[in-house]
Amino acid sequence: MFNVTRGSEPFAINSTTYNDPLLIKELHSIFLGKCYLCERDNLPDPEIEHFIPHKGIPNLKFNWSNLYYSCSRCNSLKSATHVNLLDCCDANLDVFRLIECNMPASPDKPILVKPTQTPANQIILNTVALLERCYNAEDTGIRGITRSVLIDDLFKLYSELLKLRILLTEKSTGQTERQHAKDRVNQMLKANFSFSVFWRWYIEGDSKLKLELAKP
Ligand SMILES: [Zn+2]
Repeated sequence: MFNVTRGSEPFAINSTTYNDPLLIKELHSIFLGKCYLCERDNLPDPEIEHFIPHKGIPNLKFNWSNLYYSCSRCNSLKSATHVNLLDCCDANLDVFRLIECNMPASPDKPILVKPTQTPANQIILNTVALLERCYNAEDTGIRGITRSVLIDDLFKLYSELLKLRILLTEKSTGQTERQHAKDRVNQMLKANFSFSVFWRWYIEGDSKLKLELAKP
């Protein structure tokens, strides 16, 4: 997960709709264009997600603080069944440090999501359970397809990161090429990059690459 800085309500929200184009533009901007759950960028199917289920509670349905930006897969998986979750908009939490996400050895294997603290509190466990579903669920035909697209996109970037690792750890790599590789890895680690949680946790477990990135 990545932290989102949510400012105060940008304008008075119409109390009968949350689909105002200005509101959606603002959500797109503060969530860095990414789904707050799976962290996919450039969503072809963005949706407004209600962090606390709003059914029967208009105050939650149109409350600026309850409106989140997600892809349709994650919105449908979370639905009203996953509650009491880590709030990426809570400035007091470093959500990245609380849950580790790692790539599987091969696409058909599940993406690994786990708490970093033991024992983890219930809110972290609830969030881990939801993220596991977001990354791995293929319990319907449509979810089988959306999971396949998701894993393809993840592996594309993961293989790029591994290629950059080769360049940065090879002694024969020239200075210009080395700098380009370093710039690209640093770009991948930023919160606005697609699936940045994976690349950040990858680096945490690769001291050699970490050392190369730290070199001037
Ligand atoms: Zn998503």
